[in-house]
Amino acid sequence: MDGPTDAMMDGGPMDGGPLDSTTMPGDSSVVQMGDGILLRGVVLTPTGPLDPGEVFVMGDTIVCVAADCSAEVGAMDATIIETGGVISPGLIDAHNHLPYDFLPEWVPSPPMLFDNRYTWADDPDYEAHIEPYTAHRSTGTHYCPGAKWGELRALIHGTTTIMGQSLRQGCIDRLVRNADHYHGLGHDHMRTTISSPRDITDSDADSYVADFTAATEPVTRLAVHMGEGVSGSNIELEFSSFAGRDTRTNRHAGISLLAAMDGSYRGTGYLIHGVALTDAELMEVASTDAKIVWSPSSNMVLYGQTADIGRILELGITVGLGPDWTLSGEDEMLSEMRFALGWASAEGVSAVTPEALWRMATVDGAEVVGLSSEIGTLEVGKRADITVFGRVGADPYRAVAESTASDVRLVLIDGEAYYGDLAFEMSAAVNGDCDMIDACGTPKFVCLANTPGSDSRASESLEDVRTQLYNILEGIGYPPEEQYGRGDELLELIDCP
Ligand SMILES: [Zn+2]
Repeated sequence: MDGPTDAMMDGGPMDGGPLDSTTMPGDSSVVQMGDGILLRGVVLTPTGPLDPGEVFVMGDTIVCVAADCSAEVGAMDATIIETGGVISPGLIDAHNHLPYDFLPEWVPSPPMLFDNRYTWADDPDYEAHIEPYTAHRSTGTHYCPGAKWGELRALIHGTTTIMGQSLRQGCIDRLVRNADHYHGLGHDHMRTTISSPRDITDSDADSYVADFTAATEPVTRLAVHMGEGVSGSNIELEFSSFAGRDTRTNRHAGISLLAAMDGSYRGTGYLIHGVALTDAELMEVASTDAKIVWSPSSNMVLYGQTADIGRILELGITVGLGPDWTLSGEDEMLSEMRFALGWASAEGVSAVTPEALWRMATVDGAEVVGLSSEIGTLEVGKRADITVFGRVGADPYRAVAESTASDVRLVLIDGEAYYGDLAFEMSAAVNGDCDMIDACGTPKFVCLANTPGSDSRASESLEDVRTQLYNILEGIGYPPEEQYGRGDELLELIDCP
């Protein structure tokens, strides 16, 4: 059967830029149903596109990526899906603050740019904006629906792994994979701190190094906000503190957290933003194989500047991409990719191509978050975290970046579909409890209730989570001083033009 919605695919220009990829993707259809899933379309592999290509999934694992997988045992008995589109690894969001992502953008009054992240965080306007959440941020009543809403938006826009669950609450174990906890890919390998790297003490550093060098289950990524801003508030000391060169009293001088002298724990550094880093510091990032996460939309909104991404790429630093959060950045990875393309075009940064952004969002993003042995590429043996984009064009990477929620035809995590065209629900959905959602005129299924994991709020529907967030913003069920009356500010999952 043909997908029911091709004629309804939205094709409006996004963010003011012309679309280069066609708005008329090929037909999609389920050819037959069986065990395993065989996807046909343009396949994006680490070495380039396969066109046409096939990806065959059995259970949670990719077992074939080739122009033709028909000789693979079981392939001809599998569910066969002609996607008519581009088959990519699921996107990896390398930096976010998920539980805030039901709140709309914060616009300071009067509109202004800030010097660094320490200045806006104390702004009374900002504190008022986030108050419905922060009044109870560490409780499940507020954290859980906020984080789930953020994960659902990520999923709907093709993201299968996201970083940014700073509290270990089982309610997010799990929908999309959480890079920092609950990823289902081995031990918790990442430490994340929201506190400033310029406040690291010697004892903090000792604790981190002990984790890096632990005999069992070592920490292999330490994620910090580094150089987020332009100047002021001792932001220029952040890198030297992290590298063990801060001579102030009660700060860290000694062993570097980027790498030991003998090279051990090299590659653990996970530096978010990096706007204020000097060229010498970027060279030290490169020499220690530390990673950088680029968040151009949030940086430009808050500071009017972003990291020197041209130089960062020239140095061969592994870069991930992340929109940061809905308060200042784009709402999800696809919009962030389009923002980055527009910014790079305006600034003449030729290294930021659709393919470079796709790499940041997949293969390199997996390396940044420390999970590249399991996810980030379409390769035999990898987990079947796969997104199918309906948009097509001469440049399939541009087609990915130009996709919106209506163009996302199918999202698989561990070989099970969590979002996609209704035509694929019966053959691929993770369970029978999925909800329907309108993606700007295109009906889709999205799965939340009773999905795998140990979620104590497992039976919630999309509407249940939405109601919890509406009530938080409105103040329904909370004391009089928390009657905010702001329910209409709830940020919807899909932003239609
Ligand atoms: Zn951040």
